[in-house]
Amino acid sequence: MSFSANPHAQAFWQHAQEGRIIFARCCADHCGAPQFPPKPRCDVCDGDRLEMRQATGTGTIFSITVVHRPPSDALRQYAPYGIALVDLDEGFRMMAHADPRLTIGARVRATFVPFGDRTVPRFVADQKP
Ligand SMILES: [Zn+2]
Repeated sequence: MSFSANPHAQAFWQHAQEGRIIFARCCADHCGAPQFPPKPRCDVCDGDRLEMRQATGTGTIFSITVVHRPPSDALRQYAPYGIALVDLDEGFRMMAHADPRLTIGARVRATFVPFGDRTVPRFVADQKP
């Protein structure tokens, strides 16, 4: 199932339009595992009590790819753009747009930009000391 078609990810996209990254966190005792994209059961303990949390949007680049040939003509105007796997400080990994000049291990923060027909998270270098 694609990320966009997952009904539990729809809340993620709704919040992204408003400039927020949300994830689910397990409420089971001694677990607390983050779940991303948001989903109904915990990957770690199979618990079904999860709460939605807002991420701070800061993290570290795990990997990054630069897209020179977008998958559709409508997206050509954005190329080249970076697609990164980012380890958020809350403990989950997400795929998102990123500044193509970023390198693995870079500290980043989320911004939100229009891309095609929606607003998407885009990670840029975190300028804080
Ligand atoms: Zn759990």
